Amino acid sequence: MIRYKEPVSGLIQCALGEFPSLSVKVMLVAGMADQEGAWGQTWWPDASGELHPDWEAGIDALIQIDGGAPYYAIPDILAHELAHAVAGPDGGHGDVFADAYLRIHKAFCRAAGQEPTPEQLAELHELIDCARTGRPFGTEPASDLVGELNTAIDFAINHPDGDAGGIAFLRQWTFGDQEAISAIENRGVRNA
Ligand SMILES: [Zn+2]
Repeated sequence: MIRYKEPVSGLIQCALGEFPSLSVKVMLVAGMADQEGAWGQTWWPDASGELHPDWEAGIDALIQIDGGAPYYAIPDILAHELAHAVAGPDGGHGDVFADAYLRIHKAFCRAAGQEPTPEQLAELHELIDCARTGRPFGTEPASDLVGELNTAIDFAINHPDGDAGGIAFLRQWTFGDQEAISAIENRGVRNA
């Protein structure tokens, strides 16, 4: 016999345990990450009722996962897309999505005989925030000031008078504060 222990079917069972009425089709596709920048996508009929070509009768949502995703990442990608399926086409990454995503992951942990640790929960909350804000996982959330700095840097980089104009703009924006100018220059202008 061959007993192949793999996490994906376990995650599916956990999701069904939490949301027994889920009815979705999950398929692997090629090239989605390259073409659309997403490892997973969830589809519903559009407003006119038009269906995705891979739609099947009886499903409420169609999930596509890029088959090039690292195998170890697929349970999380699937949990994310199943949470979209629970939240529905208008749910985005809102509270219903977040609740479903956390419930599926917690059930997955418990099925493996572990209570989710505070570190695991913090990571899941960070992943939700990344989905909401578009920031890459593991980077700091942008404060308002950092957001403003980045806007200023973008403007300076694209300054019509080139680098000199950009630096002059930064100098003006920071009221001539040399420390701030150096910080900004080192942040982005040099790497432009
Ligand atoms: Zn998402």
